[in-house]
Amino acid sequence: MTTEIYGNLINGEWDTSGPKLANVNPSDTSDIVGHLANATKNQVDDAIAAARAAQPAWEAVKLEEKKNMLHAIGQELIDRCDEIGTLLSREEGKPFSEGRGETFRAGEFYQYYAAECLRQIGESAASVRPGINIDISREAIGVVGLITPWNFPIAIAAWKMGPALAYGNTIVLKPSEVTPATAHLLAEVLNKHLPKGVFNMVQGGGEVGAALSAGKIDGVSFTGSVATGRKIAQAAIQNMTRIQCEMGSKNPILIMDNADMDIAVAQSIHGAFGASGQKCTASSRLIVHENIHDEFVEKLTKAAEAKKVGHALAEGTELGPIVSENQMNKILGYMELAKEEGGELITGGARLERETEGYYLPPTIYTNTKNDMRVNREEIFGPMTCIQKVSSYEEGLTITNDTDFGLAASIITSNLKQAENFKRKARYGSVLVNLATAGLDYHVPFGGRNASSYGPREQGMHAKDFYTIMKTAYTNPG
Ligand code: NAD
Repeated sequence: MTTEIYGNLINGEWDTSGPKLANVNPSDTSDIVGHLANATKNQVDDAIAAARAAQPAWEAVKLEEKKNMLHAIGQELIDRCDEIGTLLSREEGKPFSEGRGETFRAGEFYQYYAAECLRQIGESAASVRPGINIDISREAIGVVGLITPWNFPIAIAAWKMGPALAYGNTIVLKPSEVTPATAHLLAEVLNKHLPKGVFNMVQGGGEVGAALSAGKIDGVSFTGSVATGRKIAQAAIQNMTRIQCEMGSKNPILIMDNADMDIAVAQSIHGAFGASGQKCTASSRLIVHENIHDEFVEKLTKAAEAKKVGHALAEGTELGPIVSENQMNKILGYMELAKEEGGELITGGARLERETEGYYLPPTIYTNTKNDMRVNREEIFGPMTCIQKVSSYEEGLTITNDTDFGLAASIITSNLKQAENFKRKARYGSVLVNLATAGLDYHVPFGGRNASSYGPREQGMHAKDFYTIMKTAYTNPG
């Protein structure tokens, strides 16, 4: 395995100057994956200028040519998903099956938006004035800044870049400083298939993102924490830059006493511990009917303890390490807090040792928690879930909606009336029945309510609401 410098891509050229930051493998801290070249403010401005210069020609590219380019990008990611997925798992820590799957999904995003290139269909309207024709069309917004987190380093970039490109925008991407290597490979693929300047990338941390969001761009699409989202929105509004923020959540699964127990356990395990709980859609609150509570806890604990925690690239690993020491310490802090707040630890709760030194945490479950505890109100972003007991569907629904967030909520029930009521009454961007809160499709809208989302939805054809602006044309044919 090689140590590389992950540079900045500006107008089709790589620039590796600038101070270097190490990129550590969280499964084995003795493995330095590479070093990123931290971009300067001037490089950010140069990247924006390159995107600005390339935008009119990109918007004018024939639809089929654009479609073919996006399709080729998607195909290359799919063809190289073993190689790219290995690097992703090495630097981010998710098991190889998930790293590979995420890369494959990124390819699917590009191919979906390749097809969307041909589905840019406007509207026409009758005028209130006789003899006047009205056409309503959409145009690219221009240059977009995309700021992404580390937990899905290739899929999130893809679900933003696919629509940005399909609708004629040019891009400056600022990936997470925690996952620069995956971003570098992705950028190499894009740079191969797109004209110079259409896609640019600046590497670095918060200050680079801040320079981009305050820059002369037309839109900024951000995914990350609420605290960062607030800062980005404040910076962007100074220039009246269009804003889209996708942020954290505190997603519940409501498990009713009529639930299929196997589904309840399997979906809770998948939702709470997939990607070691480092998902914005992680099921971090389990709201369980008292009639089945004890049986559910027993079976859930058994299933959690059977999970194999280990090196992301080792065969059989089901939970990889936490992405960084900082994140691990934050999660350990919440494990302590749960005890202080009166929760009962059922399994997990402390750091694990493995053959290589890494940031390993076990699946962790607390019971006897209340919805007003901080562990049920704040995003933990780790393999930890908290159980609350309820005595009715109504009480469960009230707790489901008692949150500052609103990304995804599930109910496990065999009662159609409860399922339908939950779909209508749960105040979330996605609602699911007999499924976990995590694991969503890529061709339909994605986003949340309250502090989870700000601005239009991502993914599917509705992504155009952010990446395009409408124009209304009036014609008097004479
Ligand atoms: P983060 O907010 O720390 O960082 C996200 C990105 O913002 C990074 O690229 C970072 O460098 C950049 N950044 C940091 N400070 C900035 C500033 N002042 N100005 C501009 N950019 C800045 O989040 P993270 O730890 O990378 O990711 C985890 C968070 O992402 C969690 O809260 C999770 O819920 C959220 N997330 C949300 C979704 C969703 O679609 N809703 C999906 C995945 C992750």
